[in-house]
Amino acid sequence: MGYLYDIWDDFLSLLFPRHCYACGNHLLRNENLICTHCYISIPRTNYHIIPDNPVEQLFWGRCPIYKAAAFSFYSKGSRIRKLIHNLKYRGIKDIGAELGRIYGQSLRSSGFTYGIDVIIPVPLHPSKQRKRGFNQSEYISMGLSEVTGLPLDLKSFTRIASSETQTKRSRYERWKNVEGIFAVTDYERLKGKHILLVDDVITTGSTLDACAGELLKIEDVKVSVVALAISVQ
Ligand SMILES: [Zn+2]
Repeated sequence: MGYLYDIWDDFLSLLFPRHCYACGNHLLRNENLICTHCYISIPRTNYHIIPDNPVEQLFWGRCPIYKAAAFSFYSKGSRIRKLIHNLKYRGIKDIGAELGRIYGQSLRSSGFTYGIDVIIPVPLHPSKQRKRGFNQSEYISMGLSEVTGLPLDLKSFTRIASSETQTKRSRYERWKNVEGIFAVTDYERLKGKHILLVDDVITTGSTLDACAGELLKIEDVKVSVVALAISVQ
């Protein structure tokens, strides 16, 4: 039966070849979304095992983040950039979940997630979410939740206003621009919790800063941060 299934599977992949979303090469039967070569070649920051790493340093003097890390480096032509583009702009949501699972394994086995109570994705503005149809950080969070066993909370924290386009603004202007656009909707539920905030790419850190700033108003709360990538020049 397994043999027949394999033949059928090979036949289907001839008719409908699946491609790696990072390099475009054909995927083998046991590969999912990303080919083995790309999976191995994506550079890992390993920041989750490095105290005072560059992601943590980004928040120094701005926001008391408990610990922070990013999976890879976001740069022009990088595999992770291609994957995140396919996730966000072509709506291949499974990429978010798959990368979340891959990163979640490292976070769990290294002990990074020890003591964390709940996972919260950075919320998208409702109008943007309607337009895109989904929040990419939610899918990354689902993958993280699946392999770490940590619960996902999509209800207690929300976005209340849209930030204008950020690209032409200075770091200070961006920081000012995101202030006051996130809100906690259920203080009781998050009281005393260690929250893992999840984003796709960290650039200036201003969005995460604004989120953490709101979350840290909750009594006895700790906030840690992870993202799929940190932007590098
Ligand atoms: Zn590939």
